[in-house]
Amino acid sequence: MIKPDIAVQENPNYQKMLDIGFPEQREAWQAEKAVYADGKLQIAGHPVMEDWEDNYMQALADVAARGGGRVLELGFGMAISAGYVQRHPVAEHVIIEANAEVFERLQAFAKEHPSVTPRFGFWQDVIATLEPESFDGILFDTYPTQEEEVATHWFFFAEAHRLLKKGGVFTYFSDEVRDFSPRHRQALIDAGFHADDIVAEVCEVNTPAECLYWKDPTIVVPIVIKR
Ligand code: SAH
Repeated sequence: MIKPDIAVQENPNYQKMLDIGFPEQREAWQAEKAVYADGKLQIAGHPVMEDWEDNYMQALADVAARGGGRVLELGFGMAISAGYVQRHPVAEHVIIEANAEVFERLQAFAKEHPSVTPRFGFWQDVIATLEPESFDGILFDTYPTQEEEVATHWFFFAEAHRLLKKGGVFTYFSDEVRDFSPRHRQALIDAGFHADDIVAEVCEVNTPAECLYWKDPTIVVPIVIKR
């Protein structure tokens, strides 16, 4: 699986995450303060989410929820993508969140949206309790909590393949500007997806100049189908 130094070669933005540094124990992330201010969410000094990503989150949500049915979302953050998923007629919307303060917001969100099933914990632990081939759509947008997992979505690919029904769709914060790198595409294939079922749509975004984790005017929306 991808190592931090290779990840930085792939995407220099990762160096900034490494410079901020991560809590020594993954568990510490659960109790860190979630600081919501100025359209941003910061946890443990990291810029975890910012609201300029709104239209990108909408694009991801529209992909994950396009078939309705059961949708799995990983990482609740500012509830932007979750709100867009809820605009679709989904039967169930399971959301996994690892930070306790963010999870409180997720519980409040679930009160307003009856199809939402909130699950507290790290996805690495929670997914063991989910049935294989039980989701029509998956939206993965967590943030790394450990240095080794700086390109965090890569670690989820095989699980996405396992959890999707045949014909189900997987999308995620891609960290790619216009297309998948060859290494990125290969990681999806290694996880079980077929090369013909991996599509990169390009989303235009209004990235503010001061954003620490994104500089480019576009981000890839992955559309990855399980056959
Ligand atoms: N898509 C969201 C943004 C998510 S921000 C939105 O539209 O607002 C990333 C979230 O993932 C944060 O809330 C963070 O606490 C959570 N997270 C980070 N690592 C996680 C893990 N291993 N499992 C579950 N949630 C995690």
